[in-house]
Amino acid sequence: MLMNIFEEAAEVITRLENNGYEAYFVGGCVRDSLLQREIKDVDIATSASPEKVQELFEKVIPVGVEHGTVVVRYKGKSYEVTTFRKEGTYSDQRHPDEVIFINNIDDDLKRRDFTINSLAMNKEGEIIDLFNGRADIEQRIIRSVGNPKDRFLEDPLRIIRALRFASQLGFQIEKNTFLQMRQQQKEIETVAVERLTIEITKLFQGEYVQNGLNYLIEVEAFKYLPIFKNHKSLIKKLPPLTAFHSFAEVIALLHYLDKSISISQWVKEWKCSNKVRSEAINLSESIEYYYKSGLDAWLIYRLHYSNVKAFTHLVKIISNDLNYSSNELTTYKKQLPIQKRVDLDFDGHDLHTVFPDFKKGPWMNKLLEDLEYRVVMRYLENKKPKIKEWIICHPPEIN
Ligand code: ATP
Ligand code: MG
Repeated sequence: MLMNIFEEAAEVITRLENNGYEAYFVGGCVRDSLLQREIKDVDIATSASPEKVQELFEKVIPVGVEHGTVVVRYKGKSYEVTTFRKEGTYSDQRHPDEVIFINNIDDDLKRRDFTINSLAMNKEGEIIDLFNGRADIEQRIIRSVGNPKDRFLEDPLRIIRALRFASQLGFQIEKNTFLQMRQQQKEIETVAVERLTIEITKLFQGEYVQNGLNYLIEVEAFKYLPIFKNHKSLIKKLPPLTAFHSFAEVIALLHYLDKSISISQWVKEWKCSNKVRSEAINLSESIEYYYKSGLDAWLIYRLHYSNVKAFTHLVKIISNDLNYSSNELTTYKKQLPIQKRVDLDFDGHDLHTVFPDFKKGPWMNKLLEDLEYRVVMRYLENKKPKIKEWIICHPPEIN
């Protein structure tokens, strides 16, 4: 019996088969269904070329045609459909020199990183298991497909991927695989940072993050990761951890542990997005405020909604002295007198009518921020006459 999520995806496979091609579910979705874990996305491998797949389905997004991958949109869902392929040699250790499309799935499974990721399943739910991936799933083992040395040299990102699966699944790493991770770890430096960031983010988000980090320290792979390579004791400063919500949260914690490394440096060296940057700054400022002034409405007001869980988690890690859950903080935040400065019942124009003779200048912003603070803290009611009364009694100082 297939799980629901596969039943709909099976229609994609049926269409490929009806047109004379082979197609299977592959990779993470097969592994996670055997583990009865939540399946994030269903990937499909097929003998049809990317061009053929584009012909057979109405909505196809050509995300990586040269590597054989397209995204098929079918009944409102997305499926990554990749043509069976084997990879040529890797002279730059990043991309195979050539991608060769092939007709049968065996060689496609052989190019995959770990036995637990090299299973294929047909639409009837029957599994193709060329490398004993099922037994490794049962025994909770991460093991390279083929010779680990060659596989890590081919693509050293796999060293970090092994750590991230150890963190997500709580599995042990097979001895020889582990040995070669240690041996080949310096090759990590040749991997594009963006690829590392994706895997390290997943590592910190894993349910068994401590398992992944213990391996990261044991393998000493951190010695070849941005920033950690120049601050070798940093990783060992981390207290016992549970799953993070975002890379921004990781950055905020690491910055808290070593202030000499700025958030900007983390963001730059790990090539993070502007979103990660702004979330990390917001979290870091909230943490600083918390340890200086405690939890109050002003902190909650400025903390982004998207950061509430991360904030709660960070305080738990650092001092475990927060008496509120993230849900309680979110409810509290929703009930604040205002959500944003524009919600103030007073603006720059109103300021000008109260002080028509004052020239525009930085004092306006300063005063509005002061009003914002007073209203949020409930020292002042958010009503124009009340605010007006208050500022008349407390006129701004203008130099
Ligand atoms: P997740 O559930 O986190 O997405 P996943 O196993 O699907 O895990 P992906 O990174 O999405 O991981 O990769 C999909 C599949 O592609 C893997 O299961 C593996 O078979 C193969 N794969 C991905 N990256 C590599 C790599 N660097 N080397 C070899 N095989 C890889
Ligand atoms: Mg996946």
